Amino acid sequence: MNLTLSETAAALQDAKTLVITAHVNPDGDAIGSSLGLMHVLRSLGKDVTVLLDDDIPAGFSVLPGYDAIRRSVEGETIDCDLFVVLDTMTDRIGKVAEAVRAPRVLNIDHHHTNPGNDKEDLYLDATRAATCEIIYDLAKEMNVAVSKDAAMCLYTGLATDTGFFRFSNAVAHTYRAAADLIDAGAQPNVISEALEIKPMQTVKDLGEALAQFELFADGKAAGIFLTQEQTARMASTEAFIGHIRVIDGVDVAVVLKCKEPNVCRVSMRSKHVDVSRIATMYDGGGHIRAAGCTLKMPFEQAKTTIMAAIETAIREGWIA
Ligand code: AMP
Ligand code: MN
Ligand code: MN
Repeated sequence: MNLTLSETAAALQDAKTLVITAHVNPDGDAIGSSLGLMHVLRSLGKDVTVLLDDDIPAGFSVLPGYDAIRRSVEGETIDCDLFVVLDTMTDRIGKVAEAVRAPRVLNIDHHHTNPGNDKEDLYLDATRAATCEIIYDLAKEMNVAVSKDAAMCLYTGLATDTGFFRFSNAVAHTYRAAADLIDAGAQPNVISEALEIKPMQTVKDLGEALAQFELFADGKAAGIFLTQEQTARMASTEAFIGHIRVIDGVDVAVVLKCKEPNVCRVSMRSKHVDVSRIATMYDGGGHIRAAGCTLKMPFEQAKTTIMAAIETAIREGWIA
């Protein structure tokens, strides 16, 4: 069922014990919104656990509460009044799904591709650049003064989901929220400096990836296709796509990583084409200009499949 902002705030306020989770392969918005909501709810005296089933990149250790994030343990069950799933539809949370038992599930998200379902409550605001921006809305709705700790976390998601306030999803409300969070104690320079530090090997991996990028669709698309051997070797590939999305004339950028023999992860970014429509064809999702999916097929087949889909989208002008 779709909830309003005030119904969502009431659901949070009614619960005493809450477990918060977010999507696997967590980004700044997933981590920032989980920790930000944890701080907001703890200031209301609630018992809150953040549980994420994945590695949390070390750069986020600058966020207050980073050490409190629990990893799901197989066989373990946690009971709570309310299970909150952030920044994704509820099926991309890994083993956390089996570890938590709650009478009610509340999903809070900003992806327009989130279809919701009739068993769980959904608060979806696709006009917000980040789930962190929605948590900021909820703190206001609940009349909670945002602490410095919460502000650091919520600012992080605003910054990372907008490419540090450069993408078209950053609108006046986003900047106002950011300014309020800075007033509350967020330190933008501390966050951006912590997140831009990379191990030397990651910069070398970027060099390797850029040496093999391919232009296709008459130069309107660019892709980096990483074999299973390369994917296994490279610790972080997060930044690669940003370097090919800026090529003059390129509308769609894609990075494909072969994780297992029949599992290939696809990330897409675009200037015009609705890449969420491509991702949705393969059970993925995302935003118009940033989307992803997983292709359950071998590397070469996945590569030709996604290239063909992108070519079609460009040729047919899939513009939202
Ligand atoms: P990424 O390329 O992984 O940074 O993802 C871009 C956007 O698409 C993010 O907002 C993701 O949450 C979303 N996304 C990525 N993969 C999937 C997927 N398999 N299903 C749904 N949404 C996804
Ligand atoms: Mn995310
Ligand atoms: Mn997000």
